[in-house]
Amino acid sequence: MQLKILITGYEGAPFYKKGGLGDVMESLPKALAKIGIDVKAVIPYYYCIKEKYHLEKEGEFTVTFGSETEHLGIYSTLLPNTKVPFYFLENRKYLFSSNAGGKNKRIEQFAFFNLAVAHFVNWVSEHHHWSPALIHCNDWHTALIPLILKKKIKSSIPTLLTIHNLLYQGVGSLRVLDLLNMKNEETKELKKGKPATEMNILGEGIIYATRVSTVSVSYAKEIASDYDRSPIGPFLKKREEECCNKDGKILGIHNGIDYDIWNPAVDELLYHKFDMNTWEACKKDNKKDLLESLGLPDKPTFCFVGRMVKQKGLDVLIKAINRISRLDVNVIILGSGNLKIQKNVSKIANKFPWVKAEFVYSEELAHKLYAGSDFIIIPSRYEPCGLIQMIAMRYGTIPIASRTGGLQDSIMHGKNGFLFAKGRSIRLKKAIEHALNVYKNKEQYRKMVERAMKTDFSWDKSALLYKKLYEEMLTIDK
Ligand code: ADP
Repeated sequence: MQLKILITGYEGAPFYKKGGLGDVMESLPKALAKIGIDVKAVIPYYYCIKEKYHLEKEGEFTVTFGSETEHLGIYSTLLPNTKVPFYFLENRKYLFSSNAGGKNKRIEQFAFFNLAVAHFVNWVSEHHHWSPALIHCNDWHTALIPLILKKKIKSSIPTLLTIHNLLYQGVGSLRVLDLLNMKNEETKELKKGKPATEMNILGEGIIYATRVSTVSVSYAKEIASDYDRSPIGPFLKKREEECCNKDGKILGIHNGIDYDIWNPAVDELLYHKFDMNTWEACKKDNKKDLLESLGLPDKPTFCFVGRMVKQKGLDVLIKAINRISRLDVNVIILGSGNLKIQKNVSKIANKFPWVKAEFVYSEELAHKLYAGSDFIIIPSRYEPCGLIQMIAMRYGTIPIASRTGGLQDSIMHGKNGFLFAKGRSIRLKKAIEHALNVYKNKEQYRKMVERAMKTDFSWDKSALLYKKLYEEMLTIDK
């Protein structure tokens, strides 16, 4: 019988994307469908999605949240170029905004969404005769689903919780449990030690999910080696103590990228499309047009693309830029987020005319940077998987990245990119100099680009690993 999986998360490209999870929520269902899994996805119907897509309402249901009866509208469409149904749940009070302010508002929002997903399972079963064998939850925004299923709905559907970033845990007031009409007792694990005024939603997911995974093998090891310092440590420890070895352990499955979307041969956002045979001339043309559009001269060009948050190590990049001011290069920085970080990036861009910064979220500029840069700098302090290095390599742009998490799992130092000690601007400066030396040696550089472009970052292998994990989970009685 065909394996039926429901996958859920906070975002999903192309409908709504803020970062790598958005990509994964699009590309993983597609890859699973390709290997014969019957997959459906569900995310909130934020107003910004509604405004853009104007989907037809397919049905509705109600849930009780606190003392109120809340109505949910169900909308759906197919994931572009697939037969994967993508569902959206609408509720004006809780699911309207993708960015509800304040931590308590946010955890209420997603507690509500998680309850809604648990009920949506019944709706889909009734209306489409489709019941998931397993629910695949992603990050804290969906990490209450295992608890709700087990303790509230008394459902035995197994759940996989994939951690895309341990930093975001969904910590906030225990009032959420009242809203869910769940007795405090049911989350007793939270109460040990500190006074129980707050709950940690990711922690709940770690305790209650049937299995927990993360998005690279190295990040899984980093999580496991850091229990004592991690605020999530007690949950991880408890899980490992309580489960038999294999089920307690966090499994690392590396994300892939969608080769239909991230493909320079068909990418409509590029000035010039290219493939393995034409990359050399076309990348030059892409670079020329990119630099002209930004008013920069023709020089070796380094870029940065990413959310402007502490994790992404822009402070390390800024320090390194100060150290390389004698080199004749361009640095282009694209990102948005934390205003203080943006201000610091602004300062360095004002100081050096060869540094350009764009504080926007722009798919178009991101694609043009992947295609038109020579190198991409990824100075992350930690990186669970990272998609940017894989996308850049597919576009023949060599990554210079911190030796951490998924970056070190996907970049072979000196072969398809460069790795440097994380957090160290002197090491980044040295890596940039090393990269420039390779760049000057045409043959060596050509080989490196071709190796990068040929490295397999498709979902093929990882989709099979997920399939194997799902199948294993269906034999677990937890
Ligand atoms: P994270 O999930 O931590 O944000 P990833 O490397 O996994 O980092 O994924 C980042 C994704 O978001 C990539 O698809 C990248 O192209 C995109 N992205 C990040 N910042 C921007 C931006 N300012 N403009 C356009 N795309 C961006």
